Amino acid sequence: MTGPRAEAVANDPLEGLAGALFRDMGVDGVYARTALYESVIDQLGGFISSQRDPQAEVLRFPPVMSRKQLEKSGYLDSFPNLLGCVCALHGSESQIRTAAERHSNGGDWTTSLAASDLVLSPAACYPVYPLVAARGAVPVGGLWFDIAADCFRREPSRSLDRLQSFRMREFVRIGSPGEIREFREGWMTRAQQLADELALPYTLEVASDPFFGRVGQMMAVSQVQQSLKFELLIPYYTGASPTACMSFNYHRDHFGHVWGLHDERDELSHTSCVAFGMDRLAVALFAHHGLDLARWPATARRALAL
Ligand code: AMP
Ligand code: ZN
Repeated sequence: MTGPRAEAVANDPLEGLAGALFRDMGVDGVYARTALYESVIDQLGGFISSQRDPQAEVLRFPPVMSRKQLEKSGYLDSFPNLLGCVCALHGSESQIRTAAERHSNGGDWTTSLAASDLVLSPAACYPVYPLVAARGAVPVGGLWFDIAADCFRREPSRSLDRLQSFRMREFVRIGSPGEIREFREGWMTRAQQLADELALPYTLEVASDPFFGRVGQMMAVSQVQQSLKFELLIPYYTGASPTACMSFNYHRDHFGHVWGLHDERDELSHTSCVAFGMDRLAVALFAHHGLDLARWPATARRALAL
């Protein structure tokens, strides 16, 4: 491998994998994926689909979403440092040409950029809540969704488990607090069974999000105290600090409140999501089982229909 990842990774036990799974694109944490890698992503996607609730509505989101919707969701209070905003050259033809020509003349064209109405989706589930709210009251029994999106977080790293652009699959539940509790508890057990089937070692732990700044630290403490987030952590190799490959988030009535999500009796809806980090899970599979799919453990081969 050449490029920015070349040095500094020499002692990383995962480095042997990178050449078979990824191709350098000149930026840390943004990689082209090989056919071998994508074949596992596809099978993993099928495995997760087989776990979907039969009532779930399937939606696939593009990698961008409405900036206004994300602002209203409160993202800037929590993770402003991770957000990527789509900027573009606005104005008349001559204004745009002047900016672009600065580049040809060795200058900086980016000083003319201005924010558009789009951001890069930092998590798959944000667009689903306004979409559901626009349909009216949440029906009795609540709703299930199976969603996915390419996500972006501005956290450049040379480590294969921290990408800037990665795939997230989520099962989302919208309903009463009791329905959400049942969904979450059920999934915390099921996720461990999935990891067993994939023959991956794991721990399940109460977790907090990396909220920004000092106020954020207080938000993280309160999140842990209320056990609002759990993660399924997988160590990629012996001695590695484990990587969060699945997350279980309980938002309580946050999105219900923001979007006016309510049931037919006007009670605010609660929401929860189970997020599968597709790229983290795929790298975990290769790290544990190697590059030769034919030699993966029988249980993992069966689960992934390899
Ligand atoms: P979170 O919203 O932070 O709980 O993220 C949901 C899931 O996305 C996590 O459980 C991870 O598996 C995955 N994920 C989060 N950040 C990254 C990243 N930088 N690179 C790859 N996967 C990620
Ligand atoms: Zn989510």
